[in-house]
Amino acid sequence: MKTGKLIVFSAPSGSGKTTIVQHLLAHPELNLEFSISATSREPRGDEVEGKDYYFLNLHEFKQKIKKEEFLEWEEVYRDNFYGTLKAEIERIWAHGKNVIFDIDVVGGLDIKHIYPKQTLAVFVKPPSIEELKIRLKKRKTESEDKINMRVAKASIELATAPQFDFIIENNNLQIALDEAYNLVSTFVEANSELG
Ligand code: 5GP
Repeated sequence: MKTGKLIVFSAPSGSGKTTIVQHLLAHPELNLEFSISATSREPRGDEVEGKDYYFLNLHEFKQKIKKEEFLEWEEVYRDNFYGTLKAEIERIWAHGKNVIFDIDVVGGLDIKHIYPKQTLAVFVKPPSIEELKIRLKKRKTESEDKINMRVAKASIELATAPQFDFIIENNNLQIALDEAYNLVSTFVEANSELG
Protein backbone atom coordinates (compact mmCIF):
# COMPACT_ATOMS: atom_id res chain seq x y z
CA MET A 1 0.00 0.00 0.00
CA LYS A 2 1.16 3.53 -0.78
CA THR A 3 1.86 5.40 2.46
CA GLY A 4 2.00 9.15 3.12
CA LYS A 5 3.09 11.31 6.02
CA LEU A 6 1.36 11.71 9.37
CA ILE A 7 0.97 15.05 11.11
CA VAL A 8 -0.09 14.85 14.74
CA PHE A 9 -1.43 17.82 16.71
CA SER A 10 -1.90 17.02 20.37
CA ALA A 11 -2.73 19.28 23.29
CA PRO A 12 -4.90 19.60 26.33
CA SER A 13 -8.55 20.14 25.41
CA GLY A 14 -9.15 23.89 24.87
CA SER A 15 -5.59 24.75 23.75
CA GLY A 16 -6.69 25.75 20.29
CA LYS A 17 -5.38 22.71 18.41
CA THR A 18 -8.66 22.17 16.56
CA THR A 19 -8.50 25.75 15.23
CA ILE A 20 -4.93 25.16 14.09
CA VAL A 21 -5.79 21.86 12.40
CA GLN A 22 -8.78 23.46 10.60
CA HIS A 23 -6.53 26.29 9.41
CA LEU A 24 -4.02 23.82 7.94
CA LEU A 25 -6.78 21.83 6.24
CA ALA A 26 -7.85 25.00 4.42
CA HIS A 27 -4.50 24.99 2.56
CA PRO A 28 -4.77 22.51 -0.35
CA GLU A 29 -1.05 22.78 -1.16
CA LEU A 30 -0.32 20.89 2.08
CA ASN A 31 -2.25 17.89 0.69
CA LEU A 32 -3.76 17.01 4.07
CA GLU A 33 -6.82 15.02 5.00
CA PHE A 34 -8.28 14.88 8.51
CA SER A 35 -8.21 11.57 10.34
CA ILE A 36 -11.75 11.11 11.62
CA SER A 37 -11.52 9.36 14.98
CA ALA A 38 -14.05 6.99 16.43
CA THR A 39 -15.49 7.88 19.84
CA SER A 40 -17.99 6.48 22.31
CA ARG A 41 -18.95 9.92 23.61
CA GLU A 42 -22.20 11.64 22.64
CA PRO A 43 -22.15 14.15 19.76
CA ARG A 44 -21.72 17.73 20.97
CA GLY A 45 -23.32 20.88 19.51
CA ASP A 46 -23.48 20.65 15.72
CA GLU A 47 -21.00 17.79 15.32
CA VAL A 48 -21.68 15.57 12.32
CA GLU A 49 -21.29 11.77 12.09
CA GLY A 50 -18.53 10.80 9.66
CA LYS A 51 -17.17 14.35 9.58
CA ASP A 52 -16.16 15.23 13.15
CA TYR A 53 -16.16 11.67 14.48
CA TYR A 54 -17.49 8.20 13.85
CA PHE A 55 -19.84 7.99 16.82
CA LEU A 56 -20.05 4.44 18.21
CA ASN A 57 -21.75 3.14 21.32
CA LEU A 58 -19.58 1.66 24.05
CA HIS A 59 -20.34 -1.90 22.93
CA GLU A 60 -19.46 -1.21 19.29
CA PHE A 61 -16.26 0.53 20.35
CA LYS A 62 -15.18 -2.39 22.55
CA GLN A 63 -15.94 -4.87 19.75
CA LYS A 64 -13.59 -2.99 17.44
CA ILE A 65 -10.87 -3.02 20.13
CA LYS A 66 -11.27 -6.81 20.36
CA LYS A 67 -11.05 -7.20 16.61
CA GLU A 68 -7.85 -5.09 16.61
CA GLU A 69 -9.34 -2.56 14.23
CA PHE A 70 -7.62 0.37 15.96
CA LEU A 71 -4.14 1.74 15.29
CA GLU A 72 -4.40 3.34 18.73
CA TRP A 73 -7.23 3.90 21.19
CA GLU A 74 -7.54 5.54 24.56
CA GLU A 75 -10.11 5.87 27.32
CA VAL A 76 -9.50 9.62 27.38
CA TYR A 77 -12.16 10.21 30.04
CA ARG A 78 -14.07 7.56 31.99
CA ASP A 79 -16.21 5.55 29.55
CA ASN A 80 -15.34 8.03 26.80
CA PHE A 81 -13.21 6.07 24.37
CA TYR A 82 -11.45 7.62 21.40
CA GLY A 83 -9.40 5.90 18.73
CA THR A 84 -7.93 5.92 15.25
CA LEU A 85 -9.18 3.13 13.02
CA LYS A 86 -6.52 1.47 10.85
CA ALA A 87 -9.02 1.64 7.97
CA GLU A 88 -9.15 5.44 8.31
CA ILE A 89 -5.43 5.89 7.68
CA GLU A 90 -5.55 3.44 4.77
CA ARG A 91 -8.51 5.35 3.29
CA ILE A 92 -6.58 8.64 3.38
CA TRP A 93 -3.33 7.18 2.05
CA ALA A 94 -5.30 5.57 -0.79
CA HIS A 95 -6.28 9.15 -1.79
CA GLY A 96 -2.56 10.00 -1.99
CA LYS A 97 -2.90 12.42 0.93
CA ASN A 98 -1.04 13.07 4.17
CA VAL A 99 -2.99 12.39 7.36
CA ILE A 100 -3.53 15.10 9.98
CA PHE A 101 -4.64 14.13 13.49
CA ASP A 102 -6.28 16.11 16.28
CA ILE A 103 -5.81 13.66 19.13
CA ASP A 104 -4.94 13.32 22.77
CA VAL A 105 -1.27 13.30 23.85
CA VAL A 106 -1.09 9.55 24.53
CA GLY A 107 -2.59 8.70 21.14
CA GLY A 108 -0.33 11.25 19.45
CA LEU A 109 2.80 9.73 20.96
CA ASP A 110 1.57 6.21 20.10
CA ILE A 111 1.37 7.22 16.44
CA LYS A 112 4.84 8.76 16.61
CA HIS A 113 6.18 5.47 18.03
CA ILE A 114 4.39 3.32 15.42
CA TYR A 115 5.57 5.48 12.47
CA PRO A 116 8.61 7.36 13.83
CA LYS A 117 10.01 8.56 10.49
CA GLN A 118 6.74 9.41 8.76
CA THR A 119 5.28 11.37 11.68
CA LEU A 120 5.62 15.03 12.66
CA ALA A 121 4.30 15.28 16.23
CA VAL A 122 3.41 18.79 17.43
CA PHE A 123 2.29 19.75 20.92
CA VAL A 124 0.14 22.87 21.30
CA LYS A 125 0.67 24.54 24.65
CA PRO A 126 -1.97 26.83 26.19
CA PRO A 127 -0.64 30.03 27.82
CA SER A 128 -1.65 28.73 31.28
CA ILE A 129 -4.03 26.37 33.05
CA GLU A 130 -6.09 29.40 34.12
CA GLU A 131 -6.43 30.57 30.51
CA LEU A 132 -7.40 27.04 29.49
CA LYS A 133 -10.22 27.05 32.01
CA ILE A 134 -11.48 30.40 30.69
CA ARG A 135 -11.43 29.08 27.11
CA LEU A 136 -13.33 25.92 28.04
CA LYS A 137 -15.96 27.97 29.88
CA LYS A 138 -16.37 30.29 26.88
CA ARG A 139 -16.99 27.29 24.63
CA LYS A 140 -20.14 26.56 26.67
CA THR A 141 -20.30 22.97 25.45
CA GLU A 142 -19.47 21.18 28.71
CA SER A 143 -20.76 21.17 32.26
CA GLU A 144 -18.67 22.59 35.13
CA ASP A 145 -17.80 19.02 36.15
CA LYS A 146 -16.56 18.09 32.71
CA ILE A 147 -14.56 21.30 32.49
CA ASN A 148 -12.86 20.51 35.80
CA MET A 149 -12.10 17.00 34.58
CA ARG A 150 -10.48 18.39 31.42
CA VAL A 151 -8.48 20.98 33.39
CA ALA A 152 -7.20 18.34 35.84
CA LYS A 153 -6.07 16.19 32.92
CA ALA A 154 -4.35 19.16 31.26
CA SER A 155 -1.64 19.39 33.92
CA ILE A 156 -0.68 15.76 33.33
CA GLU A 157 -0.73 16.27 29.58
CA LEU A 158 1.52 19.34 29.77
CA ALA A 159 4.26 17.16 31.24
CA THR A 160 4.44 15.11 28.00
CA ALA A 161 5.24 18.15 25.80
CA PRO A 162 9.02 17.50 25.64
CA GLN A 163 8.40 14.12 23.98
CA PHE A 164 7.00 15.81 20.87
CA ASP A 165 9.05 16.95 17.85
CA PHE A 166 7.90 20.55 18.31
CA ILE A 167 6.00 22.67 20.82
CA ILE A 168 3.85 25.60 19.66
CA GLU A 169 2.87 28.05 22.38
CA ASN A 170 -0.60 29.33 21.61
CA ASN A 171 -0.40 32.77 23.26
CA ASN A 172 -1.28 34.61 20.09
CA LEU A 173 -3.44 32.66 17.65
CA GLN A 174 -2.13 34.27 14.45
CA ILE A 175 1.47 33.57 15.41
CA ALA A 176 0.57 29.98 16.34
CA LEU A 177 -1.20 29.48 13.00
CA ASP A 178 1.78 30.80 11.04
CA GLU A 179 4.19 28.68 13.02
CA ALA A 180 2.07 25.56 12.46
CA TYR A 181 1.84 26.28 8.73
CA ASN A 182 5.61 26.68 8.40
CA LEU A 183 6.36 23.49 10.32
CA VAL A 184 3.90 21.38 8.37
CA SER A 185 4.77 22.76 4.95
CA THR A 186 8.48 22.13 5.53
CA PHE A 187 7.79 18.59 6.73
CA VAL A 188 5.40 17.74 3.91
CA GLU A 189 7.78 19.04 1.23
CA ALA A 190 10.92 17.41 2.62
CA ASN A 191 12.14 14.18 1.03
CA SER A 192 14.11 13.31 4.11
CA GLU A 193 11.99 12.38 7.07
CA LEU A 194 12.23 13.00 10.80
CA GLY A 195 13.87 10.26 12.85
P1 5GP B 1 -13.29 16.00 22.51
O1 5GP B 1 -14.25 15.24 23.36
O2 5GP B 1 -13.03 17.39 23.02
O3 5GP B 1 -13.68 15.99 21.04
O4 5GP B 1 -11.91 15.23 22.58
C1 5GP B 1 -11.36 14.89 23.79
C2 5GP B 1 -9.93 14.48 23.60
O5 5GP B 1 -9.83 13.25 22.86
C3 5GP B 1 -9.14 15.52 22.81
O6 5GP B 1 -7.87 15.70 23.44
C4 5GP B 1 -9.03 14.87 21.49
O7 5GP B 1 -7.90 15.35 20.78
C5 5GP B 1 -8.88 13.40 21.87
N1 5GP B 1 -9.08 12.50 20.73
C6 5GP B 1 -9.85 12.68 19.66
N2 5GP B 1 -9.72 11.66 18.81
C7 5GP B 1 -8.81 10.81 19.34
C8 5GP B 1 -8.24 9.57 18.90
O8 5GP B 1 -8.52 9.04 17.82
N3 5GP B 1 -7.35 8.98 19.73
C9 5GP B 1 -6.99 9.53 20.90
N4 5GP B 1 -6.09 8.88 21.61
N5 5GP B 1 -7.50 10.70 21.34
C10 5GP B 1 -8.40 11.34 20.57
